[in-house]
Amino acid sequence: MNPKHKILFAGDPHGDFKPLIAAVHEYKPEAVVLLGDYDLDMPLDVCLQDIVGLTQIWWIAGNHDFETPSKHRHLFNSALAGQGLHLKVTEIAGLKVAGLSGIFLGRVWYPPQPPKWLGKQDYLRNQSATIRHRAMPLKYKAAIWHDEFEALKTLKADILVSHEAPGSHRHGFDVIGELAAAMGVKNIFHGHLHENYSVVIKKNIKVVGVADRAVTDLMGNMLNKGR
Ligand SMILES: [Zn+2]
Repeated sequence: MNPKHKILFAGDPHGDFKPLIAAVHEYKPEAVVLLGDYDLDMPLDVCLQDIVGLTQIWWIAGNHDFETPSKHRHLFNSALAGQGLHLKVTEIAGLKVAGLSGIFLGRVWYPPQPPKWLGKQDYLRNQSATIRHRAMPLKYKAAIWHDEFEALKTLKADILVSHEAPGSHRHGFDVIGELAAAMGVKNIFHGHLHENYSVVIKKNIKVVGVADRAVTDLMGNMLNKGR
């Protein structure tokens, strides 16, 4: 196998998994990493049943995966629930991959503004008892929380996969690049913005944006264009 194809990265499927499935059959990667926004109307493992067992499947969540209870359940209660990469470093095909799900949300933390809440505990402590005893609203579960982000920063990794983009993109956030630099990361792969591009940022970190339904290899080469 071509070493650059040992891990493939899939941009926001939004319900269409065919391009990813086709790429797995063609390139036979050791692992695939999905960058969020699945819009699931059935469990993720069912959508990907053609490739389950052929390759390792790893994922982070995007904002759409928290839009409705059923989209959320089809990801977080699926047979692939344990394959999430959020807030940890996982060894995949010999590389250390860090994951950051979700988005920056004005009511939680929208850098460069200071965080409204430092963490989920801080938020919950300040809610009325009725809200506190309910599950945290999905909207808040989709947020990137400052304390969790800072904890991730203390780990080391080769690759960062995030739904949000770093500040090199006009809709990105500088803190994502700062996170990657602190972690010693060499490559960032992100989804969310539906754009294929690559750019080198500070500390010689290569950023690869993966468009919706597109699939890229470890070098950032687009294996299809999506759509
Ligand atoms: Zn998104």
